[in-house]
Amino acid sequence: MDTSHEGTESVPPRAERWTICRAGHVHWGVLGGAGFLFRYHAGEGGVAEYLLAQRSRSVDNGGSWGVPGGATRASESAEETARRETLEEIGTLPEYRVTSVDVQDCGGGWIFHLFCADVEEEFTAYCGQETDATGWFTEEMIRSLPRHPDLRLPVDH
Ligand SMILES: [Zn+2]
Repeated sequence: MDTSHEGTESVPPRAERWTICRAGHVHWGVLGGAGFLFRYHAGEGGVAEYLLAQRSRSVDNGGSWGVPGGATRASESAEETARRETLEEIGTLPEYRVTSVDVQDCGGGWIFHLFCADVEEEFTAYCGQETDATGWFTEEMIRSLPRHPDLRLPVDH
């Protein structure tokens, strides 16, 4: 039996919950969120491919595609959030090199840190918590995927 709701006055509110930003959007994560956009490029003549994960149909925006990531906890840096959530959602964390950090404001003050990171190979991603599928996609393929509404990618520019 879960009694965790009793006597919680001294417990700080969890950062991992729904919040409404100044623009009236509903977002997951009081302190914002963070995730990884992993990119593999085969080199000259190759086309860059990006790892995306499809959200489980049991959660909000189920079936949509996004990056591994989630809500920032009070004790974490944005990159620590991205690393933890990646392990939870795709069951692995490759060696990576961050090439840029896209700090995205939804327009209402809610911030998502998107770490754009190069990897050495198209590593195997698994389906962890809240993930139904994973895959590597070119920019052209990404444009035709049903995408999570909060997901903005540098490839859009
Ligand atoms: Zn917002």
